[in-house]
Amino acid sequence: MSANVDAEDLQPPNLEALIQFLYQAPTGLLQTRPDGTVTMMNPRSAQLLMPLARQGNLDNLFEVLGEVAPDLRTMVAAAEPGALVCEGLRMPVLSPTRSRRVLGLSLLRLDAHTIMGCVNDVTHEVELEQQRLASRMRDASRTDSLTQMPNRAAVLERIQQAIARSEDDAPPHFAVLFINFDRFNRVNLTLGQEGGDRLLRMVAERLNSTVRQRDAVGSPHESLHTTARLGGDEFVLLLDGLRDCEDVHSVAQRLIDTLSRPYLINGIDVHVSASIGVVAGVHTASLANTVLQDASLAMQEAKRAGGGRHLLFTPSIKDRATRRGVMEHELRRALEQKELFVVYQPIVELPDARVAGFEALVRWQHPERGIVSPIEFIEIAEECGLIGALGEFVLNSACRQLMAWQRQFGSAMPRMISVNLSRAQLNDAEIARQVESVLRTTRMPATLLQLEVTESMAAQGDDIRTRLLELKALGITLALDDFGTGYSSLACLGQLPIDVVKIDRSFVADAETNLHKRVLIEATVRVARSLGMSTTAEGVETDGQATLLTTLGCDKGQGYLWSRPMTARAATQWLAAQSEASRPAEAVPAAAR
Ligand code: C2E
Ligand code: MG
Ligand code: MG
Repeated sequence: MSANVDAEDLQPPNLEALIQFLYQAPTGLLQTRPDGTVTMMNPRSAQLLMPLARQGNLDNLFEVLGEVAPDLRTMVAAAEPGALVCEGLRMPVLSPTRSRRVLGLSLLRLDAHTIMGCVNDVTHEVELEQQRLASRMRDASRTDSLTQMPNRAAVLERIQQAIARSEDDAPPHFAVLFINFDRFNRVNLTLGQEGGDRLLRMVAERLNSTVRQRDAVGSPHESLHTTARLGGDEFVLLLDGLRDCEDVHSVAQRLIDTLSRPYLINGIDVHVSASIGVVAGVHTASLANTVLQDASLAMQEAKRAGGGRHLLFTPSIKDRATRRGVMEHELRRALEQKELFVVYQPIVELPDARVAGFEALVRWQHPERGIVSPIEFIEIAEECGLIGALGEFVLNSACRQLMAWQRQFGSAMPRMISVNLSRAQLNDAEIARQVESVLRTTRMPATLLQLEVTESMAAQGDDIRTRLLELKALGITLALDDFGTGYSSLACLGQLPIDVVKIDRSFVADAETNLHKRVLIEATVRVARSLGMSTTAEGVETDGQATLLTTLGCDKGQGYLWSRPMTARAATQWLAAQSEASRPAEAVPAAAR
């Protein structure tokens, strides 16, 4: 009762008023005996219960509700006097207009003889409840459970809304930033799944606080920004309602800086860098999915360019991605249909140019494009998981070829075959076992095999080092390819488990004219020698270069000066010619040479 009702008004009402009150109450009131016989019932009760009554008979509540609440009789019998039998018991009913309604029933066992009840139409409440539940479920299905951020479905919806708004005459611009961490699988490997998850939650916090800061200083529009996690280490930032897209670059750069600050996990500072692909301005794509894909393509391109940077999407990025897709498809076919083959380039001793061995280099005989260079497809093979099969093919071919030369040339055969290993191959924990198995099946002694790894991979973490040591334990030789182009300096040469340093072509090419390059070659030779390593100069094209390299103390050379890479057949002929040429020389007395 409300407080402003006068106390006199509540004095014993007259019977007439009480009856009117019960008659007109917008709620169903009833009273029964413990066996369900109805002793009193107001019109609202009758109206609500009538659709359940057989032949309009409302004499016994248990019979009326027999189908929708079959346990009522037992419940009433079990209830102590003064106790509630049920409260808001839901019962489905088909109304006279055949619409579905829900009734709520509450019963009180007043004493041994009387049950009081109240019945209501709770259809609307039930509907609201269902809507709330549905919206909670919808929210759950649109929320990333790890970070509580909106997920892919949710961000796609908001991008779609942003696209719709930007199609209006005066578009507020939007930008989509696709964020991904560089080499995140390494983080997962070192920190474990749980550590990885903690890192991702910390990333989410940093992203959210960056956006909150923007909101704090920005225009009212900027509260439309959304941060989301798509899954794994993929995050998205949607900047919506931008007046112009100018400052997207600075936002992206600031994000990269923020995200690459160390994360303290289990007492350790974890360093990760992020790459960001950006779609900004009035984008031509009209589907959110396309916008997200385009941003992702730009992100992948940023990674390929070395990571830790952002890149704006342009149509040429898509063209390149399409070409890569085609290439990937064709490369699978190439492996199946044996379109790949191996060419061999001699590596010679300096200064006398005696053949020391060959480097095996892969080629692709493309049905339309002719011969394709490995530079065009090795990276793609790495990305699409074909490098294992490709590498094994090259290794197998090279080992077989060397064994064939042994049979043909006996002791005049080349003493070494050098095969390139890609970074992705060294990520494979099974690599040493694979190499061992190829050596076994081709019956090639491990001492005849040299594997070339590049500086960047040799400089990487402990597991790569372990794999290099496992390979060396097989008895093979390890060479550091393209030395001088990567990260490692002369100072860390000694920390790598390698036997041979291959000095990159870019140093050799300028050595005669560029004093700096010449000094570097000389220093490399000296340091390598002091560490018990030998040196091979790559890309030697002129006699002048060969002479200079000899003077600088280089042990071996490789380059067009002696031969371009040759097919197996041409290399066999080249070897035959070499051994022919060396034979008369052997007959010449030593004094005459
Ligand atoms: P790389 O291992 O440094 O191989 C040397 C590259 O220099 C070869 O290019 C070779 O043809 C080229 N070259 C040799 N002498 C000269 C010269 O005097 N002048 C010039 N201008 N170039 C010379 P290629 O065969 O195109 O291979 C390029 C790169 O592709 C290789 O560089 C290597 O990193 C990679 N690669 C080739 N075959 C394989 C393979 O089977 N597996 C893997 N993982 N990578 C391979
Ligand atoms: Mg090489
Ligand atoms: Mg090289």
